[in-house]
Amino acid sequence: MFEKVLIANRGEIALRIHRACKEMGIATVAVHSEADAQAMHVRLADESVCIGPAPAAKSYLNIPSIIAACEITGAQAIHPGYGFLSENARFAEIVEAHGYTFIGPKAEHIRLMGDKISAKRAVKAAGIPVVPGSEGAIDDEAEAFAAAEEIGFPVLIKAAAGGGGRGMKVALDREHLAEAISTAQSEAKAAFGDGSVYLERYLSTPRHIEVQIIADSFGSVVHLGERDCSLQRRHQKLMEEAPSPAIDAATRDMIGRRCTEAIRTFGYLGVGTVEFLYENGEFFFIEMNTRLQVEHPVTEFVTDIDLVQEQIRIAAGLPLSFTQEEVSFEGHSIECRINAESPRSFTPSPGLITDFHAPGGPGVRLDSAIYAGYNFPPYYDSLAGKLIVHGRDRPECIARMKRCLGEMVVGGIETTIPLFQDLLVQPEIVAGDYDIHWLEQWIKAEG
Ligand code: ADP
Repeated sequence: MFEKVLIANRGEIALRIHRACKEMGIATVAVHSEADAQAMHVRLADESVCIGPAPAAKSYLNIPSIIAACEITGAQAIHPGYGFLSENARFAEIVEAHGYTFIGPKAEHIRLMGDKISAKRAVKAAGIPVVPGSEGAIDDEAEAFAAAEEIGFPVLIKAAAGGGGRGMKVALDREHLAEAISTAQSEAKAAFGDGSVYLERYLSTPRHIEVQIIADSFGSVVHLGERDCSLQRRHQKLMEEAPSPAIDAATRDMIGRRCTEAIRTFGYLGVGTVEFLYENGEFFFIEMNTRLQVEHPVTEFVTDIDLVQEQIRIAAGLPLSFTQEEVSFEGHSIECRINAESPRSFTPSPGLITDFHAPGGPGVRLDSAIYAGYNFPPYYDSLAGKLIVHGRDRPECIARMKRCLGEMVVGGIETTIPLFQDLLVQPEIVAGDYDIHWLEQWIKAEG
């Protein structure tokens, strides 16, 4: 097992990884930007190294600085968390070339799944149903019109290199297709440095359901059930739960097995999430994330498995500590993303946190790196914390989440806490009866 791990991230996920390491007896190294000198991940880690100025491109994405930090501190492995360099295949290769272990999948799989077109091709060949769409990237208008006619309008134009809900455009009809494609191509080029786009049928009432996979280097591939992440704004998740209110045990078993069979054929290593849209009883693959997800705690709650500790064990060459037969699902879990944003306009709300009180009690987990007196920086994403609850069933979870939101205090900045308080009394949310478009429609109706 490693003696020292460098955590190439910040915020709540850096703390999450630190906690897993400490419980395994592993020392931690935090890296941070100049703006993050007072951040909680720096305060808790055994050692810390400043890797550059505030902009992420100069610090958290600065590969030479991170490798140098590893060398200076004698860390043996790097955990990238999510975001930043976690899905950068070149980074994984550089880490390994310098003799350190990348705690994550093999570079070839990060690369394969990082391009959504090659990802769709690969999983389709492995027997997983995908959203109907163009076979590959769209190169010219004639090809786009032919593909769109076959798929049927409305169509969604997606960036092959897209992520974080960005780089998607809907074309409602033929008249708007050419313009939507050229906007999508130039936006994708500007955001991801790759203007390739492809077409997909735009599903009108799907749920977002994703399957958690974990694989070791001994050929063991296990699924840990699904998460339902249908509550979204601008294609970004706001609340997640496990199990999905729309899935029964037989369906879970079926889709889980299909995913593990496909992943086994790839020779995949580590954790991964196979994302689907689920409509009228059918699953359609959209993408695979080759990293730990923000919403992993709901899976940890219902399976009682520590995904980060398993990731570290796998990277150290150890076998999974459980088999598929040993995985059982207990109760229900819900996560709310507490963002430093206005609860209605969603404009970022960085600044000094004057007061802070964490909720607690049975079945409650708060993954957060904020504290009273902390200046929430404007440079990074707005996730201030994740409030996760576990209960015997969904109604108990909702009651528990409402209680916790009432206890939680984050003073000085705006957060999404009041939004969740409004949402958790809506009949559709209480009934678990909503699709990926529901929240945006509700916000619009609210005015
Ligand atoms: P990203 O990598 O940017 O997160 P995804 O492909 O995972 O992109 O899609 C993110 C979200 O966008 C989905 O959860 C869903 O809400 C929406 N979406 C993606 N593909 C479609 C589609 N074909 N039809 C309708 N909505 C879609």
